[in-house]
Amino acid sequence: MSVPEREPLRLMAVHAHPDDESSKGAATTARYAAEGVEVLVVTCTGGERGDILNSSFVVPDGHEFETIEGRRAVRELEMARAAEALGVRHRWLGFVDSGLPEGDPLPPLPEGSFGLVPLEEAAAPLVQAVREFRPHVITTYDPSGGYPHPDHIKCHEVSFEAFHAAGDPERYPGTGAPWQPLKLYYNHGFSMRRIRAVHEAMEGAGLESPFGDWVASRDAREIPERELTTLVPVADYFAQRDAALAAHASQIDPHGFFFAVPRDLEADVWPWDEYELAESRVPLPERAPGTYEEDLFEGVRSEVPA
Ligand SMILES: [Zn+2]
Repeated sequence: MSVPEREPLRLMAVHAHPDDESSKGAATTARYAAEGVEVLVVTCTGGERGDILNSSFVVPDGHEFETIEGRRAVRELEMARAAEALGVRHRWLGFVDSGLPEGDPLPPLPEGSFGLVPLEEAAAPLVQAVREFRPHVITTYDPSGGYPHPDHIKCHEVSFEAFHAAGDPERYPGTGAPWQPLKLYYNHGFSMRRIRAVHEAMEGAGLESPFGDWVASRDAREIPERELTTLVPVADYFAQRDAALAAHASQIDPHGFFFAVPRDLEADVWPWDEYELAESRVPLPERAPGTYEEDLFEGVRSEVPA
């Protein structure tokens, strides 16, 4: 007679481009994977319109970065290394990067890019991924995208659609058996509370903060802050996050702001990844103001059959 094992918990982190999984919630995915949760990072696009953002980047042997296909291949290599560093599984949805339109007026998005794909067509492969992987928790971006890139906004839209449709047997026929995830979160890895806390701590320590302009421009524009509900302690996984960031060598400057904060200071001042709980299908305890959830699976663990 075999002893039935507890069904593993499953976390799906949906991102727009390769490297987003390493800059938003990366340490959370590394932590849950290390704790035995099955973690799947899903990337909507191939990041084919990313420029080289690291002046010391050397195109790997046998590759080129001039064409859409060449960039996709380089970024696939980088993404595989990042997933390995985080200890997570990874799946592409196969859409093409829209690029970040710039200018006034903004130019139209390139034909065939993710931002132009109609919602149902764009969400279908994610619904299929949800029905196959059966996550209990999904993370994505808030409705603004967190960053005004058309692919980030679209990433929110397809994640929101998949969270609501994947459990409905009438929706998205032919993409697998229905599965209803239990919680949906928005990443807020660049909240001003974090940026300001780190900025002030660096100035207080007599260090040059990389966030001075950021704080000043944000203050000037008075952008309203979204709510934080959840702070996941992740300082023990900063090293894995950093290794994953560095794996995206074409995109992440090793001398840029991602690496400008001493890690002991960061662990002291802001040892968390921060999230906003957007949807829950499980009952949750009332929370006193100023207190936060520390676990994306709060309320889920008791629902998953042993
Ligand atoms: Zn992105």
